[in-house]
Amino acid sequence: MKVAVVKETGPAERRVALVPEVVAKLRSAGHEVLVQTGAGAGAYLADESYSAAGASIVDADQVALADAVLMVGRPDAGQISRLRHGQAVFGLLAPLTDPALADQLAAGGVTAVSLDLIPRTLPRAQPMDALTSQANIAGYKAALLAAAAFGRFFPLLITAAGTARPAKVLVLGTGVAGLQAIGTARRLGAIVSAYDVRPETKTEVESLGGTFIELTSVGPAGGTGGYARSLTDAERAAQQAELADHIARHDVVITTAQVPGRRPPLLVTSTALKSMTPGSVLLDMGASALGGNVEGSVPGETIVTDNGVTIIGADNLPSTMAAAASSMYARNVSSLLTYMVKDGAFTVDLQDDLVAGVVVTHDGKVVHPALAKPAARPATAPAAKSPEPVAAEPTQPSAGA
Ligand code: NAD
Repeated sequence: MKVAVVKETGPAERRVALVPEVVAKLRSAGHEVLVQTGAGAGAYLADESYSAAGASIVDADQVALADAVLMVGRPDAGQISRLRHGQAVFGLLAPLTDPALADQLAAGGVTAVSLDLIPRTLPRAQPMDALTSQANIAGYKAALLAAAAFGRFFPLLITAAGTARPAKVLVLGTGVAGLQAIGTARRLGAIVSAYDVRPETKTEVESLGGTFIELTSVGPAGGTGGYARSLTDAERAAQQAELADHIARHDVVITTAQVPGRRPPLLVTSTALKSMTPGSVLLDMGASALGGNVEGSVPGETIVTDNGVTIIGADNLPSTMAAAASSMYARNVSSLLTYMVKDGAFTVDLQDDLVAGVVVTHDGKVVHPALAKPAARPATAPAAKSPEPVAAEPTQPSAGA
């Protein structure tokens, strides 16, 4: 079959869906690979490196020749107009936050495959888990950015010019990105504490050398599939108030909390911000146009408050490490593609729970269970009792992805 890689069009997106090493593997498996001119430039991968791996370099219109189009993010209007009936498109499409995209792709007869919907608990899905690969990168980079913005040392330093005490870092949200941020901050020598509404993460935090904080005012709030559920208004207020005391005692706070399909929960209020010492740093991985984990954070911007606290609004951190992120994503997407190829042809077997988990549209219809029923559609029919409204605008998945 023919596979095409497009040049990403998302703002500040530097990643690319396939790297030459993975192109070579697909070629050896008998697939033809088309790469749009300049697709790898953001990850320092020249067209020549793709040609050397056996790909053909093509222009945007020739992508229509492929059976499957691979991308990292979502297709823009121009790319959608070039997708053809019967073609498959793979990407981090975030259809739950923008059901209109699914409608458009279904209307065009495109089979949309969204890597952010991978059923992560299936062992055979692990090589395809792009949320995890990208969240690992985001968590690592978050710790480095926070350390760089902090005007003091992370490690204990004893010198002839004096002793520097180690930084006290607090990580809020201990999923994949949070655990990676803990590990990275620990490797830099910081004293790390962490909190999550899923207390089962305590042992993981401790195994990385962190101290798990347990709040007395909020009970466990695990949801389905290993994710957190949204808190009620009362739980959220209690959590914010109790967290404020912990936040005030830390030099650096990295927030990574997410609830799938919903805007990120607000964990650091303006009251908590005011209690922080001048020179403290907050890095909000949940920063989004609709609000993040930190009140007032803006994605892609660094703000210094009146009391001297730096708030970094993270924006697509994996893209800032495009070479590593593209390598990992390429392995994820090629594993999924290969899984869906049977006897040399792209096959959509919706009886397979892994395939049913990722296929959003097929044969002119929206087929994903989370989107197919109008009542479940977040943008058009938000749940009446939802304490945190579902994002009404497209957002990148949490991997900063
Ligand atoms: P995520 O990005 O959805 O959320 C990040 C963290 O934020 C989560 O740990 C969540 O509990 C936490 N959070 C949400 N609301 C919060 C609040 N109000 N206060 C504090 N913390 C809050 O999570 P993720 O990194 O994508 O991981 C989600 C789950 O998927 C985890 O259970 C993880 O172990 C699991 N997972 C499983 C596999 C696998 O089985 N192979 C692979 C990857 C991830």
